[in-house]
Amino acid sequence: MNVLVINCGSSSLKYQLINSDSEEVLAKGLCERIGIEGSAIVHQPAGGEKVKTQIDMPNHTKAVQLVIEKLTDPQEGVIASLDEIDAVGHRIVHGGEKFATSVVLDDEVLAAIEQCNDLAPLHNPANLIGINSCKEIMPKVPMVGVFDTAFHQTMPKKAYLYGLPLSYYEKHKVRRYGFHGTSHDFVSKRAAEIMGRDLKELKIIVCHLGNGASVSAVKYGESVDTSMGLTPLEGLIMGTRSGDLDPAIVTFIAEKEGISAEEVISICNKKSGVLGLSDGVSSDFRDLGEAAEAGNQEAETALETYAYRVGKYIGAYAAAMNGVDAIVFTAGVGENNAQARGLIGQYIGFLGTNIDPEKNKKRGEEIILSDADAKVTTMVIPTNEELAIARETVRLMK
Ligand code: AMP
Repeated sequence: MNVLVINCGSSSLKYQLINSDSEEVLAKGLCERIGIEGSAIVHQPAGGEKVKTQIDMPNHTKAVQLVIEKLTDPQEGVIASLDEIDAVGHRIVHGGEKFATSVVLDDEVLAAIEQCNDLAPLHNPANLIGINSCKEIMPKVPMVGVFDTAFHQTMPKKAYLYGLPLSYYEKHKVRRYGFHGTSHDFVSKRAAEIMGRDLKELKIIVCHLGNGASVSAVKYGESVDTSMGLTPLEGLIMGTRSGDLDPAIVTFIAEKEGISAEEVISICNKKSGVLGLSDGVSSDFRDLGEAAEAGNQEAETALETYAYRVGKYIGAYAAAMNGVDAIVFTAGVGENNAQARGLIGQYIGFLGTNIDPEKNKKRGEEIILSDADAKVTTMVIPTNEELAIARETVRLMK
C-alpha cells in the first residue's frame, strides 16, 4: 500500500509518500509560504536530489495539487497516477478527550475535530484545511487522522487534572492533554524491541527533545504522565517556549511592561526558552553549543538550565512509575546533541544509567548509551512520526 502522510501547518505542508509494505519513503517534500508571497515546493524522490520550485500557492488546495503533480511527474515523480495513492494519513495536533486513537476521517469526525479548535487555535484549523484540500483533490482516497494527543489519553485523572476548581475541567475541559504522542508511542515500542522485552512489563521514560520538547512516562505500554499540558507550552524549557511557569508571572510582566496577557503568552511561546535565556543567541542547540564553547555565559546558562529541567522531569517520572527500566532520548536534540545528553546525564546517574561517555559521542542512530550491566537501559532512538502515521493509517484501512 502507498500512504501519503500529510503534516499541514498554517502556511506549510510537509509530505511523505511511504510504501507501507517495505516501509520505504518513496518521496518527500515541503510546501512553504502557502498564501504568502514567495511560496515554493521542495520535492525529493528517494535517492534523488532535492529540487526547489518557486511557484505561486495562494491556498492549501493548490499546494496539494502541486504535491500530486510532483509525485506523478515523469522526471521527479515516483508514481504513475493518483490511483497509486491508497490512503492519506493526516497528523492532527489536538483531539481533546474525543480521540484516544486514530480514526478514519468522515464528516462526523471532522465536525468533532473542529470542536477541538479552541484547544489548539494555531494548529487544528490548519490541519482541517489540509484534510479538506486533500478531499477536494482526492475525493475517493480514504483518509485517516492521527492525533498528537491520543497516546496520552490513558493518563489517570491524578496526572491530567490541574489544581484548579473542578468546574473548569467540567465546563471547559481545562486539563493536561500532552503532545508528541505519536513519537512517544513509536519510540517506547521500539525501545522494548531493542531490549528484547515485552512492552507490557516495562517502565520507560521517553525524552522527545526537539525544538518543541516533552518527556513522558510510559508504564506497561501506556502513557501515565507527560510534561506538556492543555497546550504545548507547559513542561520543559524548549527552543523558544518557556515551559513551566508560575502563572502569576503573566499578569506581573503584563503590568510591568505595559503589555497585554496575550502578548506575554506570545513571548512565552516565541521568545523564551533557550532563545530567551541565552539573551537572544539562538533557539538552535548547535549555535548555543558553539557560543558556550566560545565563552558566552548566557548560552552556557541556557544549556545548563535546559538540562536541569529535563533531569528533574526524569526524576519525577521515575517516582510517578515507582521505578524505571529504560530512558530514551529522541528528536533533533535528543538524537544528535551529545552535549545536551551529557548535561542531562549528570542528574540521572543515581537511577543506575551508567552512560558511557564514548557511546554518548555518537549521533543520529539507534544506540544504547549505558553499559551492559546498567540498571536502567539508556538509549538514543531516532523518532519517525511519518512512519508511525503511515502504520496507523494501514492499521485502520485493514
Ligand atoms: P527537531 O524539532 O526535532 O527538528 O529538533 C530541532 C533541534 O535539534 C534544533 O535545536 C537543533 O539544534 C537540534 N539538532 C539537530 N541536528 C543537530 C546536530 N547535528 N547537533 C546538535 N543539535 C542538532
